[in-house]
Amino acid sequence: MAANADTGFSTRQVHAGSATAHASPRAMPIYLTAGFTFDDLDASAAHFGTGAGFGYTRTGNPTIQAVEERLASLEGGDQAVLVSSGQAAVTVALLALAGAGDHVVVSEHIYEGTRGLLLDNLARLGIEATFVPTGDLDAWRDAITPRTRALFAETLSNARNDVLDIAAVSAIGRERGIPLVVDSTFTTPYLLRPIEHGAAVVVHSASKFLAGQGAVLGGVIVDDGRFDAAASGHLFPHLVQTDRLGGASYAEKHGPRARGAYIRESVAPRFGPSPSPLNAFLIGQGIETLSLRVERQSQNALTVARWLEQRPEVERVDHVGLESHPDFDLGRRYLTRGTGSVFTVTLRGGLEAARHVVQSVEVITHMTHLGDVRSLVLHPQSTSHSARTVDERERAGVFPGTIRLSIGIEDIDDLLADLEQALVGVPVVERETVVL
Ligand SMILES: *Cc1c(COP(=O)(O)O)cnc(C)c1O
Repeated sequence: MAANADTGFSTRQVHAGSATAHASPRAMPIYLTAGFTFDDLDASAAHFGTGAGFGYTRTGNPTIQAVEERLASLEGGDQAVLVSSGQAAVTVALLALAGAGDHVVVSEHIYEGTRGLLLDNLARLGIEATFVPTGDLDAWRDAITPRTRALFAETLSNARNDVLDIAAVSAIGRERGIPLVVDSTFTTPYLLRPIEHGAAVVVHSASKFLAGQGAVLGGVIVDDGRFDAAASGHLFPHLVQTDRLGGASYAEKHGPRARGAYIRESVAPRFGPSPSPLNAFLIGQGIETLSLRVERQSQNALTVARWLEQRPEVERVDHVGLESHPDFDLGRRYLTRGTGSVFTVTLRGGLEAARHVVQSVEVITHMTHLGDVRSLVLHPQSTSHSARTVDERERAGVFPGTIRLSIGIEDIDDLLADLEQALVGVPVVERETVVL
């Protein structure tokens, strides 16, 4: 290193004390660096030629890679690509499949950010979306056109806790060579591994349960590594045709891993939503306790849902672990380890009752986030679902008196006591008198 006492102040301020010592930390090291040094010219040429080794953090970083390998393993997928947010994960997954003139079929009950992405942003790029009811298999089939390049849905959706029949919807796509992409944010790989049921690509907002502590944003795309060029190549010419310079196609180079390789090598680094290695580290730390948190959160949430269902102030509770939920049987089939911790409660007293509760809770926090170790509450009608019509909201189970809970890992008695005190003063009225 050019940092001995003969070099100038400015040289020493950037070169003295460079920490390149090799050590073996047990915790995942944070490679907080934009890039990596090359041993020699051949190494740099090999990196640019074949991607060997590490060069620049947007195309690869050991901390990020460790988290990707952990997530691919937990999902039972082939490879994972970590990005900077859940929105970025959805965007990258869809842009890897569809281009101008193409079409996607999408469940109507999806995260508002994804719906806006499709309606406002991808539409401007010429990618059209048709929305269908999550559970209507005929609607999924009928919506497919010769230009359809993906089916997209959430495994367990906000607000009504609809469960996606992954096996049935993925089979409809497979008949036509079209992959099912699922957003599994609400279920996490601990509760559900969609690839085992036929999904081709799984995305998550890692900002939620995976990180788990509400400190960072992140997203991940997991590919199943089962791209079938014979069945689907005609739909995805960018995967099977020779590259821009006449070289081998992704399918020739990567076989069934072609789609995952395209996401990793082309879409994610070019559009550029790279995660910070520091955020990757925090997501990796969070994942180490995923099973413990989600197990406790699911137990707590079901107890809270059952308690609320008995309360006179409550009109309905939409939690898939309750026998009263229309998808209870589907939930039993897909969610064998727990039913998640995000659900909605509709109060008979309408908007004013909801206002009272979100402003009265003390243990539960009033904010827009979910999957945190802390319990959170939000009023969907005036926030996450405010861009929907009254009709769309009602079909999603969102009424003026609806609040969304994301239950954390606190002691259950404290959560029930908090809700009990927050319900004091909330009117107990009949449904007919509720002004919608
Ligand atoms: C939060 C969320 C997203 C978006 O993720 P960000 O990390 O906030 O960008 C996408 N899908 C679902 C289901 C979400 O809950």
